[in-house]
Amino acid sequence: MNRRRFLQFSLASVAIPNTLLAMHTPIKSIREDIYFSLVDYRCASRLFSRLKRVQYIVGHGNFNIISFDEALLISKRYSKVGKFQKDELELFEKLFFLDASKYGFLGKKVVKDLTTVFKRKEMKKVPHTGHFLYQEDALAHYELIRKKIGDSIILTSGVRGVIKQMYLFLGKVFRVNGNLSLASNSLAPAGYSYHGVGDFDVGKVGFGYRNFTHDFEDTDEFKRLMDLGFVKIRYHKNNKLGVRYEPWHIKVVNS
Ligand SMILES: [Zn+2]
Repeated sequence: MNRRRFLQFSLASVAIPNTLLAMHTPIKSIREDIYFSLVDYRCASRLFSRLKRVQYIVGHGNFNIISFDEALLISKRYSKVGKFQKDELELFEKLFFLDASKYGFLGKKVVKDLTTVFKRKEMKKVPHTGHFLYQEDALAHYELIRKKIGDSIILTSGVRGVIKQMYLFLGKVFRVNGNLSLASNSLAPAGYSYHGVGDFDVGKVGFGYRNFTHDFEDTDEFKRLMDLGFVKIRYHKNNKLGVRYEPWHIKVVNS
């Protein structure tokens, strides 16, 4: 195994022991990948579990748009969640404010304020999906897609705040043994996702997780999306930014 490089902000830089590695499927990584140190990895595990408990309290739908401050409030109010520990909050903030290019993600930072609050009035919860869309551009765009293609196409992910994106990102990091570089190759770190500003994902009804794989490209729904010109790809195949090409992602915000 190559010598591991760790994220610089950490206090410790010791390799993750095999006992922790054994919990995950080893994935071949490139030489220069950046990993969580063991200290950060353990802290991130606690942070992830706590976020999961926040999700349990507020519900899957609301968790998508909960703000950082709301999550803190929930953690104080519900003993089942338990207060965020100092090191967990420090790690959260460091990860949010750190330039993600340090571990290889070269996409643009689109949400710069950690405490961004979504205005519920500006959004609509889309029935039967558990996801939210901005009332103006995104919702109109989504409704037009459904009108043209039909009920077999469905919203699979809408607006996502900093808390939800951090939760998804950490989940991904754990699945690749604490490798931040590899994780960011298939999921934007918190602050870097266009889901924070209006983009959304669609899929085929009943297609499950395969909607988030290249199998989606073989569906009639995808072909119709392409034929009708709805898919404006955010990150093209083999882009130089280190970001995965996602045919299911609908670009709403032009930037
Ligand atoms: Zn997406």
